[in-house]
Parts: sequence; structure tokens; C-alpha cells
Amino acid sequence: MIEENLDYIQTTIPEHVQLVAVSKTKPNEMIIRAYNTGQRVFGENRVQELVDKFESLPKDIEWHMIGHLQTNKVKYIAPFVHLIHGVDSLKLLKEINKQGKKSGRTIRILFQFHIATESSKFGFDLPEIEEVLKSADYAKLTNIEPVGVMGMATFTSDQRQVREEFKSLKDIFTSLKKNYFQESASFKEISMGMSGDYQIAIEQGSTMVRVGSSIFGSRT
Ligand SMILES: *Cc1c(COP(=O)(O)O)cnc(C)c1O
Repeated sequence: MIEENLDYIQTTIPEHVQLVAVSKTKPNEMIIRAYNTGQRVFGENRVQELVDKFESLPKDIEWHMIGHLQTNKVKYIAPFVHLIHGVDSLKLLKEINKQGKKSGRTIRILFQFHIATESSKFGFDLPEIEEVLKSADYAKLTNIEPVGVMGMATFTSDQRQVREEFKSLKDIFTSLKKNYFQESASFKEISMGMSGDYQIAIEQGSTMVRVGSSIFGSRT
């Protein structure tokens, strides 16, 4: 079933869009099944679970941290994480930079934006990120590499609203690219879209979709 689900999803995603298979709460056996079809990019939202899976699964897996990350836990994933999606404060950026230095790595990150109407979702807004990007503290960060933006749409059946929210993230990306990252070839990712809305996200310019339940089944 996992194999068929992945196969189907891959046929609905254009080649330039990367599929992050969200394996949170799912056992290693299920991840291995996806791995055996060729999937190498997996996303987790809890640090302990991410570390455990990194340690016990094949080393050529690219692990993405997609959940909210507390500063005191950055040190556990800094040695191996491939991309951190949910970066939403200067404090967190500084800690990622510090831990990147300790591990001798430059850690790739996405700035998370608050595009949903729900108050519970984390993220910057445009004035906040601009303040960060212009700050002297930010200029000192040598071991982070911003590669784009990430956001989550409101959980609603109103497709028009979801479309508008994804469009707003695309607009934020375009503005940041133009004003701050024109020289950075790696700043090119827009991580948006989950099982329920990834097709709308792709239509609005997503380059990276994070799909869990449509691959591995619903979570309890
Ligand atoms: C769980 C999660 C997903 C995947 O959600 P599905 O609806 O199962 O596809 C994507 N992004 C984030 C940030 C998540 O926490």
C-alpha cells in the first residue's frame, strides 16, 4: 500500500517539486518500505523521534525537521539534519548557527511564515523577517544557509482561502528573493502543501511538499 501510495503521489507531482515523506509516529518498517521504492527524503516533527530514526535507519536518508523546534534541542539534530523547515525567530537562528559551528557544518534552513488565520501556527510575518535580515546579529551568522520559506495553510475545506494563503507565501518568497537573496542560488525553495492541499500548493508555486498520511495512512 505504501508503495502504491508513493507511486501515485509521484505521478501527481512535477519533477521540479521535491516530495518530503512525513514519517512522524510511523515505525521504521514503514519507512524502510518507502526507502526500498527509492524515497530518500523523510520529515519528522519531534527531535527525539528524529534522532532515534536517524540512528537506526540507512545513512543516505535526508532527514528534514518539519516541526516546531525548541532552541534547547537544536544540538541533538545539528550533526546530521539536512534541512530545518520551521525557523521562526532570531534566537533559533543563533542557536542553529552555534550548533552548526560545533558540528563543523553549515545548516540549511527555511524561514517559516504565518500564513494561516489560525493563531496556533508559528512563523514570521514580512516586517519581522526584514528586521531580522537587517540586524547586525544576523550578519554574524556564518553557519546557517537560508534556502527558502515554509508555511502551512489554514485547515479548512475552503479551497479559495487555502489558495490565497499559499499565494501569500509565494509573494513573500518573491519579495525576499528580490530584496535579500538575489545573489544566493540556493535560496529557491517554497515548502508548502500537505496531504490535503499539496495540489493547490503546487499550482501556487510550491517546490517542496510535505506529505504524510496520504503515504503512510492516518495517524492515531
Ligand atoms: C504532519 C505534518 C505534515 C504532513 O501532514 P499530512 O496531512 O499527514 O500529510 C506536513 N507538515 C507539517 C509541518 C506537519 O507537522
